[in-house]
Amino acid sequence: MSHCIFCQIIAGQSPAHKVYEDEHLLAFMDLFPAGPGHALLIPKVHAENIFELDEAVMARIGAFSQKLATAVKTAFAADGLVVFQLNGEAAGQTVFHYHMHFLPRMAGNNPMAMHGKVMAEAAVLADHAARIRAALGEG
Ligand code: AMP
Ligand code: ZN
Repeated sequence: MSHCIFCQIIAGQSPAHKVYEDEHLLAFMDLFPAGPGHALLIPKVHAENIFELDEAVMARIGAFSQKLATAVKTAFAADGLVVFQLNGEAAGQTVFHYHMHFLPRMAGNNPMAMHGKVMAEAAVLADHAARIRAALGEG
């Protein structure tokens, strides 16, 4: 079994609340969300960070990231959406398999944190994933 938690999710060896999957990409809910609707997008091929990512995979991520951003914003009727991606420990990266974060923001929200401190309830994540899947289907 891979030591990488995201590779384990891809392999079906660890659970995740998935919002999208194809041959190359997987999107799922962040387990410690920094806010409601916090989703992650990863390539299925293991690459630690942006510097190691294959250019063709990067292009697929880029193309789909716009669709996912739209779906997440729509699903949570968000006023705004933060997309971010951390490379290296010094940048705050904690899982060393490339991923993009999608975090809905509401007007008047508290100051933004990139990482949540509390594990979300499974039922809540299941509901949030279903909302994003529905919005993706409509797009
Ligand atoms: P980063 O700090 O950019 O590497 O982000 C890693 C993100 O992965 C954090 O927001 C974590 O909450 C999230 N995370 C860690 N383990 C899991 C998991 N098993 N399922 C879903 N999200 C996870
Ligand atoms: Zn991995």
